[in-house]
Amino acid sequence: MSNKKILIVEDESIIAEDISDSLISRGYSITGIVYSGEEAIESAAEFRPDLVLMDVNLQGEIDGITAAEEIRSRFQIPVVYLTAYADENTLRRVNATKPFGYIVKPFEEKNLHTTIQIALHRHQHDCLTNLPNRSLLREQLSLVLDTQKELPAMIPVVILSLDRINRINSTLGHDIGDCVLCKVAERLSNCTENINIVARLESAEFAIVLEPVAEKQDAAKIARNILDIVAQAMIVKGSELYVTASMGISLSPGDGNDGEELLKNAYTAMYNSQQQGGNKYQFYAAKVANNYINKFTQETCLRNALKRSEFEVYYEPQIEIKTGRIIGAEALVRWNHPKRGRVSPAEFIPMAEEMGLIAPLGEWVLETACRQTKAWQIEGLPPLRVSVNLSARQFEQKNLTERVSEILRETNLAPKCLQLELTEGLILQDEKAAALAFTVWRDMGIQIAIDDFGTGYASLSYPKRLPFDAIKIDKSFIRDIADDRQNAAITVAIIQMAHSMNMTVIAEGVENQRELAFLCDRDCDEIQGHFFSQALPKPEFAALLKSDKCWKL
Ligand code: C2E
Ligand code: MG
Ligand code: MG
Repeated sequence: MSNKKILIVEDESIIAEDISDSLISRGYSITGIVYSGEEAIESAAEFRPDLVLMDVNLQGEIDGITAAEEIRSRFQIPVVYLTAYADENTLRRVNATKPFGYIVKPFEEKNLHTTIQIALHRHQHDCLTNLPNRSLLREQLSLVLDTQKELPAMIPVVILSLDRINRINSTLGHDIGDCVLCKVAERLSNCTENINIVARLESAEFAIVLEPVAEKQDAAKIARNILDIVAQAMIVKGSELYVTASMGISLSPGDGNDGEELLKNAYTAMYNSQQQGGNKYQFYAAKVANNYINKFTQETCLRNALKRSEFEVYYEPQIEIKTGRIIGAEALVRWNHPKRGRVSPAEFIPMAEEMGLIAPLGEWVLETACRQTKAWQIEGLPPLRVSVNLSARQFEQKNLTERVSEILRETNLAPKCLQLELTEGLILQDEKAAALAFTVWRDMGIQIAIDDFGTGYASLSYPKRLPFDAIKIDKSFIRDIADDRQNAAITVAIIQMAHSMNMTVIAEGVENQRELAFLCDRDCDEIQGHFFSQALPKPEFAALLKSDKCWKL
């Protein structure tokens, strides 16, 4: 390993000179030899070496351990200790500074070099995936940018963030989450044809420097390819998992003067992909950046939205195939933002979850929907079941089951008129707790539906263990069902399984006659989607209900 700079802190000058000679002969350069802790900190600040060799026992005010701690925390420079002898207490202190190596004097030259090599490698590599970390990325990227300056090509810099990794961590455990990260790292590292550098930054974020391209479209093609590679099924500890990624791309020259700026702008573009639901790439566009400067303002708005009554519940009709009539309604929350107009729940529900606001918001939706359904009953409208979505985060609330029964009591709605929609992730998170809550709810007469079935870590086995009343097939399977053989096969299998266990099947997102006909033919029980109606505000839904419309199916 050559051209790395090393600072030697050793108050025994003969030893210091000896080490210096040996390191120089191996191609290192020495930024200095100093004798005290104070000098060590000063010299590190001035010359920014790649590594510091630090004698533990130094004369003077500041001993080696204190100096090392400061150098590590202020400049993120790795430290390797040298010591002749250390008592228990010193060793404990040494350990507390998370050293990158420890060598006992007298040492063999060979040992010193190996220790330095390991320390430099560790310092610049991520210990989970063994990919370069941010420090090495910075070096490599600026090298790439320098050498490409003269060429007419562009260098795409990509930030890739795995979607929903926190959900994998919280539902399946961090071990599985780590395995997923390693698999993704491996897949990216294997794309040597198009990728020049892959580094791991924070938790689920990777930085990728692509090989130079002639046109933006070439970068787009590679990006799509990377999305596909990440999205392929992976087997982790025996189960099949799917992850997707959000990517942001900046191009040099144009989107930044140096590596830092390119990374920052790629990050902004990635964030934009994430906000659009993930599994996407976006190029950096300067005007998008301004949107996200407002993220904090947005969060503040969301915090106040409940107080200011900016939320509204819409109702999407659910039609029973047997009768062609409305049998239920799914309550879907909308945010009427004073400036932005109607904001989609796909955008603010995750934000509310992150901010810890989902519990009060969820309760508000549940209460509003139950109260409204009861009011329609009192008005004498046709009977209706109301479905309310629960997010996994709400399940973390200790008294959730009690709150649900309190709300039913307060609004006076019969439990059989309420259906709670839960997702697979929620159940996997803590199957025991979920099973317990289900039993309580089912004993009360509340119905339980599993939402977006098939999109998560689809396991056809747990409906067998847990008492659901209904399965909602996700709209991604319903799409083009009449032509897409795979979607058709999955849907038919889900319907058969559900019926064999006495569960009702609800298909979501039905948009056209062909999809509808397919589902009617295959004995699906209930249908919802834009073919019938979008989710409607309260008065319009009431009017539809009043009309007692009967669809010819
Ligand atoms: P979801 O529970 O799966 O709701 C179905 C989504 O599909 C709704 O989106 C609905 O408007 C949309 N949809 C219905 N028919 C069609 C169709 O024919 N074609 C297409 N393309 N889309 C259709 P929406 O209202 O934007 O809600 C998105 C998600 O936000 C919901 O998915 C649900 O997971 C969540 N959400 C909505 N309201 C609440 C709530 O009160 N609490 C919680 N925890 N989540 C909610
Ligand atoms: Mg739903
Ligand atoms: Mg759904």
